[in-house]
Amino acid sequence: MKQLLILSGKGGTGKTTVAGAFIKLLDAKAYADCDVDAPNLHLIMNEMDEPARKDYFGLPKAEIDQSSCIGCDLCRQNCRFDAIKFSGSYQIDYYACEGCGVCQIVCPVNATTLKPAVAGELMLYSNSDRVFSTAQLKMGSGTSGMLVSEVKKQMINADIDADVAIIDGSPGIGCPVIASISGVDMVLIVSEPSISGISDMKRVIKTAESFQTKVAVCINKYDTNHENTKKIEEFCKENKITFTGKIPFDPDAVKAINNGMTVIDTDCKAGASVRDVFDNIMELLK
Ligand code: SF4
Ligand code: SF4
Repeated sequence: MKQLLILSGKGGTGKTTVAGAFIKLLDAKAYADCDVDAPNLHLIMNEMDEPARKDYFGLPKAEIDQSSCIGCDLCRQNCRFDAIKFSGSYQIDYYACEGCGVCQIVCPVNATTLKPAVAGELMLYSNSDRVFSTAQLKMGSGTSGMLVSEVKKQMINADIDADVAIIDGSPGIGCPVIASISGVDMVLIVSEPSISGISDMKRVIKTAESFQTKVAVCINKYDTNHENTKKIEEFCKENKITFTGKIPFDPDAVKAINNGMTVIDTDCKAGASVRDVFDNIMELLK
């Protein structure tokens, strides 16, 4: 099963719009939403019933048994994350604790222990021939890269007979993006013709290339800035990056998304352009 990952470098470029349309055009049997901080692919790909839900455990968190604590202060002094506070008794700051275990090692009376902590929820929509893997990270949890790996693993382990899997990635270039690139066959970057869009596209290209992953680019809302669109096309040409097409800004596409549809579920010019990008990508994936 080949894996196509759709990235953008930043939020709001239309990455999920393109991913949703690709899933429909391909009639994809396997797909995933790796934007675990703010998943939204399920809002437009809602044809399956309730998902199977599973808690995701990230890094453990420290706990202090107040009845054993002798108040030596060693844990607070040795916590590099400043996660232990004293205010009448020693307390762990749940959001600051990184689960490193130092407090457990230094405590002379074994009053601190590391406990598994729920950091998010994995969801798996599936039926006999289709699987959709997604997750939601708990607010304040910092292990999004590990959760992204779990989302992909869940999709692959479902062992569905699919030629191509479509993965909607996270915005940015941080840990979750790196986790989502690992093992994919191609990255499609949905860029937008703005200064920040160009800068973010270059950064995400660099990240993908460091994994020796094939990269292709398309531009969404290309007609909102023709000059910057030209710059993106020239950049791709100069750097031998496959350019797969331009999608216009289209109020009909916005309406379709707001009604829980993909852009190819309605007759609109953005949908026609997405089809062209899709055809080009499928050729490249052969
Ligand atoms: S586990 Fe590490 S980060 Fe958490 S409270 Fe203990 S020393 Fe601090
Ligand atoms: S190291 Fe152990 S005994 Fe000392 S203050 Fe921390 S929890 Fe209490």
